[in-house]
Amino acid sequence: MPYLILSDIHSNLEALTAALADAQGRYDKILCLGDLVGYGADPELVVDWTRENVATVVRGNHDRACCGLEDLELFNPAARLSAIWTRRAISDETRLYLEQLPQGPLTIDGFDLAHGSPFDEDEYLVNISDVMPHKSHLGPTLTFFGHTHVQGGFMVLPRGIRQISPEAPLEIDPQYKYLINPGSVGQPRDRDPRAAYAIYTPETQTVEYRRVDYDIPAAATKIMTAGLPQILAARLFEGV
Ligand code: ZN
Repeated sequence: MPYLILSDIHSNLEALTAALADAQGRYDKILCLGDLVGYGADPELVVDWTRENVATVVRGNHDRACCGLEDLELFNPAARLSAIWTRRAISDETRLYLEQLPQGPLTIDGFDLAHGSPFDEDEYLVNISDVMPHKSHLGPTLTFFGHTHVQGGFMVLPRGIRQISPEAPLEIDPQYKYLINPGSVGQPRDRDPRAAYAIYTPETQTVEYRRVDYDIPAAATKIMTAGLPQILAARLFEGV
C-alpha cells in the first residue's frame, strides 16, 4: 500500500492541487506531517480537503498558533501576522479541527510521523549535527518529519550520519535508521520553488521524492490580495 506523504502545505491550495494531480493513481492513503495552515491564503479550503482525504495528520507549530493554542511571541513578524490573519479567516469548525490535531510522533504501520523531530515537535533537523544527539535514541527504522521545508533527510548508520539527496529514489535498508523529509508542499525553502512531496511504498521499501510545478503567480496573488505580508508571496517564487 503506497502512502502519499505531505508536509507543510501552509494554506497553499494551488501547490496542493498540483501535487495531488502529479501523484494521482500512485498511492492508497495520504499522511500529513503538519502545518496545514499559516502563510498562505486558503486555510479553510486546505483544512476542508485534509479533513475529507487525509488518513492521519500530526500537528505543526503553525496549526497550534493559528487556532490559538499558542501565543505568537516566538514567531517572526510575517509568521505572526499570518497567524493573526488565519485566526480571523477560519471557521469555528476549522479552528476546532486544528485544536484537536494530535501531537507527533504517531506510529503508522511500523513507521513514525513527526512534525519537527521525533523528540520535540518544534525542533528543526537541518544539519547532521542536529540529528547527532538523537542518534542512539531513534525508534523505528523509518521516521517521516517536516518543519524545515527542505526535502531529503538523514540516514543513520552505526558509525555516522549521512544527509540524503532527494534526487534518486531511496531504498530503505532495515539495518539502518532513516529520518525522511518529503519537503514542503506549499512553501519550499530549499531553493527549488516547486511543490515537494514523497511516496513511500512499504512493499518495496522505497521512498520516492517528487517535485512538481504549480501556479505560483496565482498563490502569490491571493496572498497579496488577502493583505498578508508581501514577503510571503515573494518567497514562493524563490523557494526560500
Ligand atoms: Zn512549516
